[in-house]
Amino acid sequence: MNDILRNLPGIAAPLDLCDPLLASRFDNSFVRELPADPLQRDVPRPVRKACYSRVSPTPVAAPRLLAWSDDVGALLGIARPQAPDGAAAAVLAGNRVLPGMQPYAARYGGHQFGHWAGQLGDGRALTLVELIGADGRRRELQLKGAGRTPYSRHADGRAVLRSSLREFLCSEAMHHLGVPTTRALSLVATGEPVERDMFYDGNAQDEPGAVVCRVAPSFVRFGNFEILAAHEELDELRRLADYVIATHHPELGPPAPEVYAQWFDEICRRTALTVAEWMRVGFVHGVMNTDNMSILGLTIDYGPYGWLEGYDPGWTPNTTDAQGRRYCYGRQPEIAQWNLLRLAAALSPLIPARSDLEAGIAGYGRSFAAASRRITADKLGLLALDADDDALLTELDDLLHAVETDMTLFYRRLAEVPTGRAAAQLADDELLAPLRPAFYVDDGDCGRHLLPWLRRYVDRVRRERQDPAARRARMNRCNPKYVARNYLAQLAIDALEQGDASVIERLLAVLQRPYDEQPEHADLAARRPEWARHKAGCSALSCSS
Ligand code: AMP
Ligand code: MG
Repeated sequence: MNDILRNLPGIAAPLDLCDPLLASRFDNSFVRELPADPLQRDVPRPVRKACYSRVSPTPVAAPRLLAWSDDVGALLGIARPQAPDGAAAAVLAGNRVLPGMQPYAARYGGHQFGHWAGQLGDGRALTLVELIGADGRRRELQLKGAGRTPYSRHADGRAVLRSSLREFLCSEAMHHLGVPTTRALSLVATGEPVERDMFYDGNAQDEPGAVVCRVAPSFVRFGNFEILAAHEELDELRRLADYVIATHHPELGPPAPEVYAQWFDEICRRTALTVAEWMRVGFVHGVMNTDNMSILGLTIDYGPYGWLEGYDPGWTPNTTDAQGRRYCYGRQPEIAQWNLLRLAAALSPLIPARSDLEAGIAGYGRSFAAASRRITADKLGLLALDADDDALLTELDDLLHAVETDMTLFYRRLAEVPTGRAAAQLADDELLAPLRPAFYVDDGDCGRHLLPWLRRYVDRVRRERQDPAARRARMNRCNPKYVARNYLAQLAIDALEQGDASVIERLLAVLQRPYDEQPEHADLAARRPEWARHKAGCSALSCSS
């Protein structure tokens, strides 16, 4: 592979998206190697015995580049477009398909809120092409909001600016936090209105439309396998599995029954690590349906997601989930396992020994527990947890919940709590002072609840005799200062809807270094302001997007 790449033109210097030289790095392996829907009509319909349908994006009125990720551009070897309304914006809005691109919409199904929902598929997303990046890796360029496909059902194939900006911003922020995720190259305004009833209350309104160009090695989901298994399309099931293994796990070797089992183990392991990372940073996905679970263990499909502000394991940002709270923060590990069981059922024709599937699921539990213990130790600045720490951990969970405490601020500031020899002699207020900014309602009482725990914690830290500077640095590598707080994304949306890109640009830049102090941007690390407590888009989000 490296030899091929060395001979490819344009690897060193980034190219314009429309530069014909870039096409030498295009590939369409998904289209080439997997069974296609024989029909080529974008009319919504059930599709059978296929992994995808060839589609064309539907052009929009006035494509205009609103935001660009230089980081992803560099990865792909694509230069930032010179003109916001030039040829690159036309490609990124779906108005122009470049030679060498073979756009398709993937066929998938899924379990939504615990129930089999049948065929779903890319109803408003389409993969334009796979691009071999500057690092030699293959990544799909996928447009979201580029028009109807055979999988659009009753919907319009479009996306609104607010949800597109949220996906663009958060996927980049997650990457820089170190969480496995799909990424985003661009955000383009369509110049067309999209009608949405944001809270499903009969108040439909026109909103500005947008298209995000998402980037990932693969957008295949658990649901791509589930739909094939549901229709007993076993040849197609095997071909999709073989394709994913050969393309994304070549180290597992050529397909064979034991290779399928190892692959399932790997899916379980990756899923466990990603969910453990979500828990670390306080991310709530909001719609963990099996069609929103990546076969590569990436965070995928940013919809009504949210960030824990006041620590509350029962919190869900998704208004559709407000009653059942199936997808709340605290249940994410359990739901991921439930989803893996659905995937196990879909893969059972390939992995007939039940014990192999059970071993994968058991591996999920082990991987999650191990990752979670390592993360908890890092968050608390402890070298390792022991059984005696269980009470300390449970009590902290209860305390953070009982007194509305900002999760991000609490852990970040915990590194500032004095733990030196003099700590035992410190007055209560001095010990608590670093944590005060984390309390949402500080009537003086918050700290009193926490104090007995804090004193025990300080003693526990002191027993390990760590180097204070090394401990602090390790904590600060695990506990971000900056996350894409819900209200910050909303401020960026409000500004961009008025034509002001400065807020999103600043956020993108700051969120690229979430663990650095960046004191000049400290306002972006502050507690959620009170005006945002119940504001739509800041605390409650709907699936309407
Ligand atoms: P989501 O809840 O965004 O993961 O989407 C669930 C399913 O609905 C997927 O099959 C999407 O492609 C489809 N979908 C969501 N919004 C639209 C839309 N505006 N037009 C067409 N399909 C959509
Ligand atoms: Mg989805």
